[in-house]
Parts: sequence; C-alpha cells; structure tokens
Amino acid sequence: MKAAHLLAPGNMITVDVPEISAGENEVAIRVAYCGVCGTDMHLWHGKMAERLSLPQAIGHEMSGTIEQVGIKVTGLSVGDRVTVRPLAYSTPVGDWTEDAAHIRPGSKFLGIDTPGAMQARWVVPAETVHRLPQNLPLDIGALVEPLSVACHDVHLAGLRAGETAVVIGGGTIGILIALVAQLKGARVVVFEVNKTRLAALRALGLEAFDPSETDASNVVMEMTQQRGADVVFEVSGSQPGIGLTTELARVRGRIVIVGIAPGMVPINMFHIFWKELQILGARVYNAGDFERAIEIASSGQLPLQKLISGKIPIEDAANAFKSIERGDDVIKLLIDCGADR
Ligand SMILES: [Zn+2]
Repeated sequence: MKAAHLLAPGNMITVDVPEISAGENEVAIRVAYCGVCGTDMHLWHGKMAERLSLPQAIGHEMSGTIEQVGIKVTGLSVGDRVTVRPLAYSTPVGDWTEDAAHIRPGSKFLGIDTPGAMQARWVVPAETVHRLPQNLPLDIGALVEPLSVACHDVHLAGLRAGETAVVIGGGTIGILIALVAQLKGARVVVFEVNKTRLAALRALGLEAFDPSETDASNVVMEMTQQRGADVVFEVSGSQPGIGLTTELARVRGRIVIVGIAPGMVPINMFHIFWKELQILGARVYNAGDFERAIEIASSGQLPLQKLISGKIPIEDAANAFKSIERGDDVIKLLIDCGADR
C-alpha cells in the first residue's frame, strides 16, 4: 500500500509498504482523505523532531472506511465511515472526567508520537474512532478534527447568542471558530494580517480586518457601543495578537488562548486586573467536541466545502506541503489517500 513518509525536514516521498493488521483493540481504516494541518507543517519544518520516528507517515485530520475490526472491539463494523480523534491515552482514567480526558498527562498524539494517516490504510485504537453519518461526504469528514478544535474553544468560552466575539488569526482554525461562533448566534469579527487569508475570510462572508491597517480597538468599540468584546479568541500565537486581547475584551470578558505561543509573552496585567478579565487555555478536544463537530458538519449549515482548496493524490503528497510552504492561495489541502476514488 501507499504511504507518504517524511524522511527529513522538507523531504517526503510516497513509498509502498506492507499493510499492518489491526490488534485486538484496534481497527484498520482504509483512508479516504487526510488534511495537511499547521502542526504537519511544523513537522515538515523539523519542529518536534524528537517526537517523530523518521521515516514516518504523519497526518491526523482524516476520514475513511473501516476495513478490519480487532476481535475485542465492539460497536464498530467493517464498512463504517469514520474519522479519528487522534489522542491515545496510556495512563489510567483515574479521577479524570471524560470532558478532561484530553488534558490527562501521558497522552499520545496519533500522527506525531505514532504513525499518521497519510497512508492508504491506518491502524488506530478503536476508542479513538467516531462514526460519520451516511450523508456526510468523506472530504468534509476530514475537516471534523479541526472543526472539533473550534467546537471545544467556543464551548469553553461559554459563548452565547447575541454576544460579540473577536477572533485574532484567520487560518483554518480561526475561520472555523468564527463560523461556529456565528452559528451560536454571536456577532463575529476576525483580525488577520495576511492578505490571502483576509480575502478568504471575506469570501466566506465573515467580517475581517487587517489590524496593521485598521485600528482593531476602534472596530470592536464601534461594534459594541464602546463596551468591548464578550469573548476574544487568540488564535495567532503572536505577540501582537496576544497584546490585543486585553485591549479588545470588555469588563469581565473572556479571553481564550488557542494559538500556541512560545512560552513567556508580555501581556497587559493592568487590563486583566482592572477589567476583571478571565483568561482560559484551550487545547485540542474531547469526545463530546467530536460528536458536536460531526453534528454541525452533517447539518450542512457551514460552508465547509469552500475551505477545501484542493485534493492532492497521495503519490504527490510532498507537493501539498511545498504549496503551503510557498504561501499559495490555499485554506485546506487534503491528501487523497485512495478510499474515496
Ligand atoms: Zn490538525
């Protein structure tokens, strides 16, 4: 079978490898699509190298069809259309509740710490599998993972209808947070400096501004009768983005940290104190977020098809990475791993 192997930073080749059988608590999935994520780009650029075992298939935003079910697996059958929540837990459940399972110490991220989905067949623990409804196309199914991130963030923010939400950073996750927040009935504005992304945001009907050209504070204050935003999602992970959060949030507003910032970053402590702001970290997702994302995706209420900029056959997987690296005009590229052909 075909597998796209990362050999070294910036070097990926598609090779023929033997198929692996599912263990007793595992399933083997014939992979349809696997999206290229920002995390995959970090791996391509040599980051987190200590977690990889090169040569290795990466990728974790996938959809496919079950081909083999381990003998101890219940509730899943050959032929089921599925996606995978790419977190495997090696520590006992203990006191951790289901909604906090994802922040339990000792979890492994499939596609980094273990082989990923950019291959024709992927073997994963059965507990990570979520079934997709028949009406959900498999290409949209590959967007369930990033959509689950957005569902997690909006849920943690406690966002309510009628509230104003600011999203700082308009990549795939920022777009999905904005769309899910709108679906919740919030008024949303996105700030993004990249012109290509700005155009994509506006094409999706989102209100979006470049904060290097338009004063973000003026925009938000005007939108909110000078109150400030109820919720600010920081998705850029950048110093300027983080700096904006406390300025744009209203008194007792919530700031949700989604972007991965590199450790110590200055933030206006006086704003946090004076406005009694709440700052929440939000990392990946839990099983409930996946179920919510699948429901939203299959409801057809979001323009998810417009996020898919192209499908690259697995034989040319490296070209998808090169295209994103070049800064081509793309939102989400999917690797076509064969099961939907
Ligand atoms: Zn991802």
